[in-house]
Amino acid sequence: MTFVVTEACIACRYGECVAVCPQNAFHEGPNFVVIDPRACANCGLCEMVCPVQAIRPAADLAQRDWLELNARLAVQWPVAVDTQPLADADAYAFDTAKRERLILQP
Ligand code: SF4
Ligand code: SF4
Repeated sequence: MTFVVTEACIACRYGECVAVCPQNAFHEGPNFVVIDPRACANCGLCEMVCPVQAIRPAADLAQRDWLELNARLAVQWPVAVDTQPLADADAYAFDTAKRERLILQP
């Protein structure tokens, strides 16, 4: 089983999750991070530190489309190393409908 990054991370990308992951399971895109389900050890540390509750267990069936997106983008994006918040992260932190802001390519 794995954890999944969901909509709340888009346009914020604060980075706490990347720093705590013991598996280097995060991959970073222009304004979002995803979890590689093949690397995740299901420890739950990232879920505990995310300031916007963007990370959910994959067992939450409501997040199934996000699980598929995480798996697909993890293959395309580089491993996240030192993820920093986006400049305007605070402005979007509590925006609940920002799926359309996801940038797939640099
Ligand atoms: S801690 Fe949350 S908001 Fe920050 S990069 Fe990770 S999932 Fe995104
Ligand atoms: S659950 Fe643990 S291993 Fe999986 S992505 Fe989060 S911190 Fe990394």
